[in-house]
Amino acid sequence: MTLLDVDDLVVDHRTPGRPAVRAVAGASLGVAAGEVVGLVGESGCGKSTLARAVCGLTPATGGTIAFGGTPVTRLGLRRRDRALTGIQMVFQDPYSSLNPRRRVGAQIADGLAVAGDRATSVGDMLERVGLPAGMAGRYPHEFSGGQRQRIAIARALAARPSLLIGDEPISALDASAQAQVATLMRTLAVESGAGLLFISHDLSVVRLIADRIAVMYLGKIVETGPTAEVWADPRHPYTQALLRAIPAADGLGTLPEELPGDVPDPADPPSGCRFHPRCPKAMDVCARTEPAPGPVSCWLYPPA
Ligand code: SF4
Ligand code: MG
Repeated sequence: MTLLDVDDLVVDHRTPGRPAVRAVAGASLGVAAGEVVGLVGESGCGKSTLARAVCGLTPATGGTIAFGGTPVTRLGLRRRDRALTGIQMVFQDPYSSLNPRRRVGAQIADGLAVAGDRATSVGDMLERVGLPAGMAGRYPHEFSGGQRQRIAIARALAARPSLLIGDEPISALDASAQAQVATLMRTLAVESGAGLLFISHDLSVVRLIADRIAVMYLGKIVETGPTAEVWADPRHPYTQALLRAIPAADGLGTLPEELPGDVPDPADPPSGCRFHPRCPKAMDVCARTEPAPGPVSCWLYPPA
């Protein structure tokens, strides 16, 4: 059974006196237990908003989010919060997950308490993320960025989530810590049988740890597939542009900010296929009619 099933999710950001911005515009995405899904796309494409809606931090405007088979978007607040206790999030800034004024051991203990876990110690959790058990009495500022992110991961995993979400968890880290922290998240999530939704604009790291990739553009998922297949044979012109933009020398790289043309304003998205003003393969139909959602949402690959 799919652990997380996001179906045609719509999330509008409303600011008084301004038109609503459709940050997520009908996105569908699934994560199975024990599976690592990498969600990639340029900044501002709606990745974080999708994650926040999954966690119940931002209300969904439309569509459904089912978690463990329960359609949480249709539950009342209290029952929804209870259903969502199985989701833990690790943020870009560890201080969004950690309280700077409390000892890290106490914060990991909070996670263990959520799970009602009396058998595991705070020291065990620190060791699982590669830190000495004796560091439990320290405060977050006494650690490096990479270590702090390890502590945030320990705190999240202590709560025994069935779904772990990382929202750009490595983008504030040194290059040397990025792959280590990403690999650690994958290892610990898979070991515990949890699913991992890993949001990043670093395609090289996503390639390293994700079983499947989902590519997001301006509020929509435009391509999904097994990582190796998408990497070897990207089909959507946007995915192709992303992969082409990666420096060829080492096959590694980060998502470019400079594909041809600017990312359109999500408050006023282009007609038809949202990528058409930037797409080198655009046809007449592309500006008129939106392609159907699917593994590749593009008129070049009409559904059979
Ligand atoms: Fe390009 Fe048309 Fe495909 Fe959109 S639908 S990505 S504009 S070819
Ligand atoms: Mg973001």
